[in-house]
Amino acid sequence: MKDLTANNEINLEKAETMKCEECDSSLFTIAYLIKKISAIMSPIGQESLAPIQVYTCKNCGEIPKIFLGDVD
Ligand SMILES: [Zn+2]
Repeated sequence: MKDLTANNEINLEKAETMKCEECDSSLFTIAYLIKKISAIMSPIGQESLAPIQVYTCKNCGEIPKIFLGDVD
């Protein structure tokens, strides 16, 4: 996800604050999902781990669905 706030193109006062779908909290914390890549699928031919950064609700721990996409 591109950070558009860096060059002040976006007026954040008009932007919607994302809220947790479960508890309505608007505070999130960074977490990682870690995918295990099997040796067969891995470009290096060995089993490896691929971290995917997501945000979790700081209050209830829920991961907003937009971060999950096609991730299980
Ligand atoms: Zn929550």
